[in-house]
Amino acid sequence: MYLHGTSRINQQGHLEIGGCDAVELTKQYGTPLYVYDEELIRNKCRSYVEAFKETGLQFQVAYASKAFCTMKMSQVIMEEGLSLDVVSGGELYTAIQAGFPPERIHFHGNNKSIEEIQMALDVNIGCFVVDNFYELELLNELAGDKGVIANILLRVTPGVEAHTHDYISTGQQDTKFGFDMGSGMAFEAVNHSLLLNHINLLGLHSHIGSQIFDTTGFKAAAERLSHFLIEIRDRLQYTASVLNLGGGFGIRYEEEDQPLPVKAYIHAIASAVKQLLGERSYPLPEVWIEPGRSIAGEAGTTLYTVGSVKDLPTIRKYVSVDGGMTDNLRPALYQAKYEALLANRADEPAAEVVTIAGKCCESGDLLIKDYTLPAVQPGDILAVSCTGAYGFAMANNYNRIPRPAVVFVRNGQSDIAVERETYEDIIQRDRLPSHCTTI
Ligand SMILES: *Cc1c(COP(=O)(O)O)cnc(C)c1O
Repeated sequence: MYLHGTSRINQQGHLEIGGCDAVELTKQYGTPLYVYDEELIRNKCRSYVEAFKETGLQFQVAYASKAFCTMKMSQVIMEEGLSLDVVSGGELYTAIQAGFPPERIHFHGNNKSIEEIQMALDVNIGCFVVDNFYELELLNELAGDKGVIANILLRVTPGVEAHTHDYISTGQQDTKFGFDMGSGMAFEAVNHSLLLNHINLLGLHSHIGSQIFDTTGFKAAAERLSHFLIEIRDRLQYTASVLNLGGGFGIRYEEEDQPLPVKAYIHAIASAVKQLLGERSYPLPEVWIEPGRSIAGEAGTTLYTVGSVKDLPTIRKYVSVDGGMTDNLRPALYQAKYEALLANRADEPAAEVVTIAGKCCESGDLLIKDYTLPAVQPGDILAVSCTGAYGFAMANNYNRIPRPAVVFVRNGQSDIAVERETYEDIIQRDRLPSHCTTI
């Protein structure tokens, strides 16, 4: 397992994160346990800000909070001076309760409800990323009701889709998100936005994919959006002040994953924008980006206790842990790959190939297939790395399994960021309606 951030193997042969012995953490907080390396989160934030400062552009780095959203995380992002993307009333509420400055919040989503829009208008967020004509009209109307003007970006689909190592150019963008550029829909959205009294169009947004390992897709998107900005200026005499190129910067889950340094992505984006718009003497807009996974992902490690072991000689050895698809849905959802180690015997040599199974009643509840570890025994502490993004965020109560606690570690100190759910929590909203009594 690759050791990210402050993770290391200590003198006891234990995994240590943020100066805290992982085995001690499990004694104190129980398992499964999400452990976040706060130093690593902060360093990631700073690397984006530093990279942008070198470009000379005006910028905002907005953490896409859907990757991992808690009050503590919002606070760390706030302290690092980043902005914040939310995609629901729940994420917005979390940020506001954590004291996050509303003017640095951007609201995404392809079907924001009336209540969500009203809530966002009431706290006066920085901008809405408007996804469709229905929302544009609704927002204009709701802002009008409140006598305010809503700042917006229009989410457009530039016909670029990026996945990991390659990007594809898709003519007709088949996606539920955004206004299609190719068909003229995006142009119509800009045109229409400029006519609405309670809408202030700041610029454009695009998000081309996720877990991207090269700069080609970002450059292609920057290029197409820049051309579109020029077209809009020529046809509508409108000059945008913001160009948001979304998130999707890759991280290293396993050895094959080779993300570029943050700088490489930012510099590629910045030079594409500067060159294309500069050539046409377009006043350089603020460039915004929205990293989610790349800020939270590598900082998270999940600690489990090993229980049963089922050996099918010549076929497979299943090692079951006390969590699974309830705390990490990604392997079951899209065959996501992870690495692991035995946190209590991290210095021992590899001895056997095992498959790590979760405890849920689904055959597909396997966390890692065919992975080499030292001889595993019940009671061992298994650490799965890189679970910080879309792990806790997608956690659920399947089989009525309580969600694990979240702990932040830094400089040898550990602190609860989210309490472990209890069985009481599990039944808290259950009712036994009397009129349904059957006997
Ligand atoms: C999901 C999402 C992001 C973050 O993506 P990551 O792959 O986690 O960096 C950013 N912007 C938008 C609009 C998204 O939907």
